[in-house]
Amino acid sequence: MARQFFVGGNFKMNPATREAKKALIKVLNDADIDPSTEVVIAPPHLYLFAILESIRKDIKVSAQNCYCKDAGAFTGEVSPRQLADAEIPYVILGHSERRTLLHESSEFVAQKTRAALDSGLSVILCIGETLQEREAGETAKVCEAQLKPVVKALKEGDWSKIVVAYEPVWAIGTGKVATPQQAQDTHADIRTFLSTAVSPVVASSTRLIYGGSVSAANCKELSDLPDVDGFLVGGASLKPEFVDIINSKR
Ligand code: PGA
Repeated sequence: MARQFFVGGNFKMNPATREAKKALIKVLNDADIDPSTEVVIAPPHLYLFAILESIRKDIKVSAQNCYCKDAGAFTGEVSPRQLADAEIPYVILGHSERRTLLHESSEFVAQKTRAALDSGLSVILCIGETLQEREAGETAKVCEAQLKPVVKALKEGDWSKIVVAYEPVWAIGTGKVATPQQAQDTHADIRTFLSTAVSPVVASSTRLIYGGSVSAANCKELSDLPDVDGFLVGGASLKPEFVDIINSKR
């Protein structure tokens, strides 16, 4: 089965004002977008409802995080059940900024992935190595270690609701994009790992998207790689060039 091309926009803690948020949504609402690509934008929690109401219906909305419980005394957290109840279909989990700044372990990310799936959400699951790990030749090992707890927490059928985002930490927000060779090799390694750890069917049907300094200038070449099924875009998702990235397969 062909894997549908996927482009996600991770707004992170942006934009800073409602005015800027409106302008960003207007650009997307007015754009000519390739209907064969699945497009998902992930604004901050505070803007989820407003964006869900104002964004065109062919663009889906994602949260940037959720907790691993349905409800309770967890100050500052948002539950997967609340997201599902609000008709938010996706959540980003395991982003490197949360792994690094908020010390989220791969086991915790796996728990949250399980909880998100149990509430009916789909998950954009982020993994990726640091520069030090890449230079030590440990990229595949690190990606596998980050995936293993998730593999353990999921049943084979759950994988249809997972998009794996390979995001090398050294490429995020740095302007230093992975070379096509680096992206293709790592995606192929991840697919090989999924084939052994889960099943060949899951390996060939799960979308593996690349993230880290994706721009209008580099998206075309990366989108042509056999194991790159789309992008998770940070900085460029806040600019009009996001439309060019969405349309990179055109
Ligand atoms: P970037 O971020 O495109 O700004 O590098 C990507 C991400 O963190 O998802």
